[in-house]
Amino acid sequence: MRVEYDYDTCIGMFQCVAEWDAFERDEDAGKAVLADSEETDEDVFVREVPDDAELDAKFAARTCPVDAITIYDDDGEQLIP
Ligand code: SF4
Repeated sequence: MRVEYDYDTCIGMFQCVAEWDAFERDEDAGKAVLADSEETDEDVFVREVPDDAELDAKFAARTCPVDAITIYDDDGEQLIP
């Protein structure tokens, strides 16, 4: 499972931070930060989701009010949102 985070879309509501600890607060920027991610495109950050964090990652994606977090399965199929 893979997560893609759109930094530009994020409006800093920080619901994701409460769901998955890979998302951290950057209060100064008013944005979440996705730990251990790689910037694959401008303001797009991607990382693998460990097996034991799959539920947390899905909750983080579901709770984001602006759909800045997208979850893909191992076949590249979009699961959430
Ligand atoms: S829930 Fe969405 S808008 Fe809120 S900090 Fe996380 S990514 Fe940003």
